[in-house]
Amino acid sequence: MLLATRNAQKLVELRRILASSDISGVQVLGLDDVPPFPEIPETAATFEGNALAKARDAAAATGLATVADDSGLEVDALNGMPGVLSARWAGRHGDDAANLQLVLDQLADVPEDRRGAAFVCAAALAVLPGVDTPGVETVVRGHWRGTLTRAARGRNGFGYDPIFVPDGDRRTSAELEPAEKDALSHRGQALLALLPALRELLSPASSRS
Ligand code: IMP
Repeated sequence: MLLATRNAQKLVELRRILASSDISGVQVLGLDDVPPFPEIPETAATFEGNALAKARDAAAATGLATVADDSGLEVDALNGMPGVLSARWAGRHGDDAANLQLVLDQLADVPEDRRGAAFVCAAALAVLPGVDTPGVETVVRGHWRGTLTRAARGRNGFGYDPIFVPDGDRRTSAELEPAEKDALSHRGQALLALLPALRELLSPASSRS
């Protein structure tokens, strides 16, 4: 199975979450483990659209069953932005420190009771049709509510983790242990929702065989 992401931290989380599930006996590859292919830009207006496009393209290019995720932070006081633009909010794709600082600056005058936000993750599975088996395309969503701090705290995780305090906790998600984050996070929830489709794919007795 291929996990189609170039984000090393996301790959670590996706691998860890799958490893702690009941899905076993599958070799999980990253994009660096397969021959390069032209990767489409993420231009969809929704997390689901981007996740499905990434999974579909990688499955078509490699022939492998592919899981892809698209994720981001929706800030209430910014009307749901940065949303699908989370990775490039400050202008340069993947500049986590600049993205986080821009959100903190934008919320400088926003009081505590209006600093709500949610991490969202869409996870898609794409499998090409075989001679005797139908193709698979499915996409699910995970959601994690919290509030935003006024300064970064913690060293774990990535992206906006140092400014996100999950509901029910006082620590930022960068202060959680990795397994604690997985059990609560938008990515953990999305992969949990994808497990039935993965089990179906791997089951020898499945209707696909
Ligand atoms: P994309 O899914 O590759 O478009 O990028 C998602 C972006 O959203 C990342 O670059 C992070 O800035 C942010 N993001 C997504 N998931 C997380 C998370 O679990 N913690 C912190 N930031 C995240």
